[in-house]
Amino acid sequence: PVVIGILALQGAYEAHVRMLDVIGAKHRLVRTAADLQTVDGLIVPGGESTTMLHQLQQEEGLWQALLAFVHQYPCLGTCAGLIVLAQQVQPPQASLGALQVRVQRNAYGRQRESRVTTASTALAGGPIEVVLIRAPRIVAWGADVQILAQCDGDPVLVQQGRVMGCSFHPELGKDTRIHTRLLQACEAVKMSPASGS
Ligand code: GLN
Repeated sequence: PVVIGILALQGAYEAHVRMLDVIGAKHRLVRTAADLQTVDGLIVPGGESTTMLHQLQQEEGLWQALLAFVHQYPCLGTCAGLIVLAQQVQPPQASLGALQVRVQRNAYGRQRESRVTTASTALAGGPIEVVLIRAPRIVAWGADVQILAQCDGDPVLVQQGRVMGCSFHPELGKDTRIHTRLLQACEAVKMSPASGS
């Protein structure tokens, strides 16, 4: 079966573990370039993107391995994870460039102003609960970026090829649709690695 990696250097990775358990997906915590070679997809969790970046760049070979991985396998970046996967970040910082979006860090308010709301979504099953915690706003996106959920006119869940990113924290609620979508993408790639984009 497919194994989903969860980047576990820093941040909110434990809740992703629980979510993958709920949907019955095999998973493995990823902390090294070698770990990455054993997984079929990757979740980049929320947390603090500058700290995460720092740690990613300190671990021997991990940044290079990730750069290759995110352009080939299904990935999901949540909140700080979206920032790490984005092509462009405001204020400027390094990123993996897997999603053609520009994100503005901390655009959804301070920690104590963080909010829970509802977004309309193209995913089957109706509106999705959105937990925004000092979340990045997607302020610009490329033509190949599909908007899967929107909140007050802003995209909050996007997909480009095999990579998904969201401003919010889907791992904190009960809605398993996004993790299930990632699992299905991993299964599809494993069945026929050459298909899709
Ligand atoms: N504010 C964080 C950052 O800019 C992201 C917050 C989160 O992941 N909940 O990295």
